Amino acid sequence: MVFVLRSVSILGSTGSVGANTLEVLTSLSERFRLYGISCNQNILLLHNQITQYKPAIAVITDEKKYTEFVNQHGSRIGDTEILYGEEGLNEISSQKVVDIVVAAIVGFTCLRPVINAISSNKTIIIANKEILVSAGELIISSLKKSKARLLPVDSEHNALLQVIISSGLEYRINDKNYYKSKLNNLTITASGGPFLDLEISEFKNIKSKHAIKHPTWSMGKKISVDSSTMMNKGLEIIEAKLLFNLDLENINAIIHRQSKVHALVEFLDGSTIAHMAEPDMKIPISYALTFPDRIYKSSAEKTSYDSLTFEDIPISKFPCYELARSAAKNGKNSGLILNAANEISVEYFLKDKIMFTDIPNIIQEVFDKVEITSNDNIESIIENDNEVRSISQGLIKEKYGTA
Ligand code: MG
Repeated sequence: MVFVLRSVSILGSTGSVGANTLEVLTSLSERFRLYGISCNQNILLLHNQITQYKPAIAVITDEKKYTEFVNQHGSRIGDTEILYGEEGLNEISSQKVVDIVVAAIVGFTCLRPVINAISSNKTIIIANKEILVSAGELIISSLKKSKARLLPVDSEHNALLQVIISSGLEYRINDKNYYKSKLNNLTITASGGPFLDLEISEFKNIKSKHAIKHPTWSMGKKISVDSSTMMNKGLEIIEAKLLFNLDLENINAIIHRQSKVHALVEFLDGSTIAHMAEPDMKIPISYALTFPDRIYKSSAEKTSYDSLTFEDIPISKFPCYELARSAAKNGKNSGLILNAANEISVEYFLKDKIMFTDIPNIIQEVFDKVEITSNDNIESIIENDNEVRSISQGLIKEKYGTA
């Protein structure tokens, strides 16, 4: 059978979601063609990806690394053109030939290209949590004005989507009335991170080297710390609220240590349907790429589903989770404040300049200092984010005496 090839750009191809996407695309090469890739600093891996996958365009966003790369290889390698910075990202995310944009860049660099991709009516596969949490309102209002589609690749949200679609319902992003008329509850699972069984009195002794070891998923340092504080699950509650818009009391998380059940959807009739899979990012990535079909063939061995366990989250150990829930409830720029204050705190914790238990206290203090408002454009979001970051830094310096 011959398929119409769909063109894909990956913003952030050298990270783990990006690299997994390239592997999935290779196995589905009769359906997809790679158009653009990008990296910030990892030009060595980018060069390998250019020679292996031959995209039309490769973008480097770090100025120094771009210059270094072009001095070494020129501005074209075979059929691949090398572009620089945000302009380059906009090129690969809004060009007419592009059908699908995978947004896998960490942080705010992803915001403008995603908004551009939305205005150019692309399918956006979103792996970036920060911009959903910090700029959710803007993203939803932009989506409502366009024909673009935004599909989550975060394993839990992708799992929710899979259950919803597989049950014959539609994907109508943020449509409160629709989902309220069809669903009772959404539950996402959490592995619990490395400190679930640690006595609360020991939490003050946690160092960054302990927090970056995750039991079931292999991830970057920042997200591993977020997992260990359960902030990651809190951010995912905000993400789930944004995508499906049930009342907050109907969106919950539960500890499931084996990371094989990713989400559970309780329908109006009281039936609950769960999504299960190995913790392998290629599964949600492939589903988003071929949505709503299942075409990708996993190479994993037969999965074992014995001894699955579920427990409530021990809230007293994980105040970050509760902070995120109240941000989800308050809306407006609460997610932005939470995300920025958390990122700065985690940065200081990773350098062992503050304690693990300081992280939620700092975030709470930042909330006390920053005004809750709505940001309705990219500029005010970026400005507000910078402001919260500098308030957080100031507070840490003043209170914790660290440079
Ligand atoms: Mg997740």
